[in-house]
Formats: sequence, C-alpha cells, structure tokens
Amino acid sequence: MAEETTPQGASPAAPPPAPPATPPAAAAAPAAAVTEAAPAEQKVKVRKPRQRSCDEKDAKGKLCAGHLKRWYDYPKDVAAKIGKDAEIYRCEFCKTLYKPDPKQMPHSFTLRY
Ligand SMILES: [Zn+2]
Repeated sequence: MAEETTPQGASPAAPPPAPPATPPAAAAAPAAAVTEAAPAEQKVKVRKPRQRSCDEKDAKGKLCAGHLKRWYDYPKDVAAKIGKDAEIYRCEFCKTLYKPDPKQMPHSFTLRY
C-alpha cells in the first residue's frame, strides 16, 4: 500500500514571533520628571561649588553647558521667588536660574521677604 504523505499546513519553517519593539526609555522614565515640567515656569537650581556652566539636559539628553552669568536686573516675579537683591545666576542658553551654593553663604545673611 502506497500512502501519500503530504504534510499540509504543518510547515516546520514557521517564523518566530517578533519581539515587541518597546524602547526602554519609555518605560524607565521617572514620573517625577514629567510632573515637574511646567510650561512657562522658570527653573531655579542650586549651583554646585565652583560650577560655572549649565548642567541642564534637554529632551534628547544633550548637555546645555551654557555659561552661568550673574543676573542683576531680574523681573519682579523672579524676585518674588528668589528674594530681592538676591545673588542669582542665569544660563545664557536655556535661561535656567542658579542660586549660589548655600554652603558658601554667610550665616549672618538674613533673607528679607
Ligand atoms: Zn543651560
């Protein structure tokens, strides 16, 4: 008896299932960074000792590295945040504000609000 053995639909060369293409950055993004990003709100950071350039990173993770310049004629809304006649520095590129290192501030200095 000659039996025709033609396997139909049982192909061994089935392609493996493709792995899900999920970028790891999307899952690892901290929730705090998302909620902190407020539009039109000026960011105020504290300067590290001897820090002279901006260490802010943009959305692509690129370092800003802008020069921190002493900012004297800041507007009133900034003065309300940092205090009048406060020592403040501003990045020339991303406009992030930098307060001086609190450890370098004299203890006799009193904040006036
Ligand atoms: Zn910057």
